Amino acid sequence: MRRVYRDNRAMKSLQLKPGKEKSLLRRHPWVFDGAVATDGATDSATRDLVAGETVRIDSASGQFLGWAAYSPQSKIRARVWNFDEAQRIDASFFIAACARSISARGLFDIQSNGLRLIHGESDGLPGLVVDRYGDTLVAQFSSCGSERFKAVIVDALLEQTGLTRLYERSDASVRALEGLPEATGWLAGSGSTELMLTEHDWKLSLDIAEGHKTGFYLDQRDSRHKFSHTVRRMGLRRVLNCYSYTGGFAVAALSGGAEHVTSIDSSGPAIERAIANVALNGFDALRTTMLDADVNASLRQYVKDGATFDAIVLDPPKFAPTAHHADRAARAYKDINRLALMLLEPGGVLFTYSCSGGISADLFHKIVAGAGIDAGVDAYITERMGGAPDHPMTVNFPEGEYLKGLVLIKK
Ligand code: SAH
Repeated sequence: MRRVYRDNRAMKSLQLKPGKEKSLLRRHPWVFDGAVATDGATDSATRDLVAGETVRIDSASGQFLGWAAYSPQSKIRARVWNFDEAQRIDASFFIAACARSISARGLFDIQSNGLRLIHGESDGLPGLVVDRYGDTLVAQFSSCGSERFKAVIVDALLEQTGLTRLYERSDASVRALEGLPEATGWLAGSGSTELMLTEHDWKLSLDIAEGHKTGFYLDQRDSRHKFSHTVRRMGLRRVLNCYSYTGGFAVAALSGGAEHVTSIDSSGPAIERAIANVALNGFDALRTTMLDADVNASLRQYVKDGATFDAIVLDPPKFAPTAHHADRAARAYKDINRLALMLLEPGGVLFTYSCSGGISADLFHKIVAGAGIDAGVDAYITERMGGAPDHPMTVNFPEGEYLKGLVLIKK
């Protein structure tokens, strides 16, 4: 699948408006459309640029800033591959970048055969996510740049992992913002898309074609483990697992010795699989209640009924994809956290999360604190949680900190 790409030394440049070079000098990889002085159809220098093509980014004074992938339709007009003027953006660049990212996983503590090998910008590969589930790779190409270099990236991944199966899940909504159509299916190998994950001591089945994201929420691995441990350590008996997806936290709670776990998710297929995952681990179905329902309505009903729980997990979907949605999202987070704190027994534990890029860790802390005040509840905040280490944060890409969690113990 080798292709020859043009040498970027001869390539065209996007020149930025005065003052817009600051974030790039700090090695942040995004160039927003509003920062670009010369661009696309209006400018002869870039008129014939193809989506995903490599461009030079220059400051208003002509200083080289980086080599980037051009994205004509996106608000993020270019994503920087590299900040070194001598670097060529060619097959060997991608081979080396994939190798660096994959070998970095050896630094992290990952108790699973499912792990993220490449986490986009945080691994220097904007618009590319690659997860490994046992003998199968699943890749998501979500920018024009990663799309353009797909063939060379796929070759590099197969060669470096020694695997033969790679499935594409380029169906995230962000592709539309880049003007790219959805693309899914096998790029290498074939066979069943039903796979078995071993996480800690647990077996978790998934379908890489039908599941959310690439099939599973690998980023919550450490939180599931922490939850299991907490349930055991504190002897927590009755658990409410909100936004359960395929039951990862339910299996964690049962393996921690919980007597009964109620899981709620509005996706029927996710609940079906949660039932299967509980059985797969040898737990009696009588220890679980699986509800295909809306969490918000269920929490309100429990409060009305005077129900209580010893432990609650709140792991909702992204309420605020960007800071623009933060206000509305903040109200939604506050509401579910208020209800959850009301439902907890004194001494009970809440594991609560936000995976919204638009909500900072500080803001999330404030929202949860506000929920406690509204509920008339005081609580110890005993832990701040983040994504598992194979979903890394880096110093020059703060957006990498999308997942934040808090552990609270009700007084
Ligand atoms: N805790 C899970 C991941 C949760 S992802 C794990 O460890 O694997 C968020 C889940 O929320 C998705 O499965 C989605 O189907 C569900 N969801 C979204 N909106 C919902 C709602 N209003 N009520 C119930 N579930 C919802």
